[in-house]
Amino acid sequence: MDSKSGTYILVFRNAAEFSAQVGKLGSTTISAGYCAYVGSAFGPGGLKSRIARHCKEKKIHKWHIDYIRDYMDLIEVWYTTNPQKVECLWSNKLHSLGGTCPANKLGSSDCKCESHFFHFKTAPGFESFKNMSPEDQLISVEIGL
Ligand SMILES: [Zn+2]
Repeated sequence: MDSKSGTYILVFRNAAEFSAQVGKLGSTTISAGYCAYVGSAFGPGGLKSRIARHCKEKKIHKWHIDYIRDYMDLIEVWYTTNPQKVECLWSNKLHSLGGTCPANKLGSSDCKCESHFFHFKTAPGFESFKNMSPEDQLISVEIGL
């Protein structure tokens, strides 16, 4: 994983529907299937330390995604080291790929997006997403379960 800054997507497999309290957003129900969460890491440690944090289970809940992360299996991380923040752009693209928003404003407290978290019935394809963003030179990493 890259220690540079950049934008990433966490791809989760969700074996069974669950409900959880997501901070101030309240109770949220996520159906079985697949989920994708968009984030960016422009602080110290860059993508490498941020992704390592997301991989870890049972931690203090800092971001919305932390509240639901332990219910799901993190299977892939897609990222770019493009120095521009493309979080919101990528959220729109995930929506175009057929992603639905199970929780309004999840991960998007600081922007106008409906959400930065999307649900898919079948796994979202890396190649399809990559083709939508050729300028970002996307990289995909599979996470061992
Ligand atoms: Zn946004």
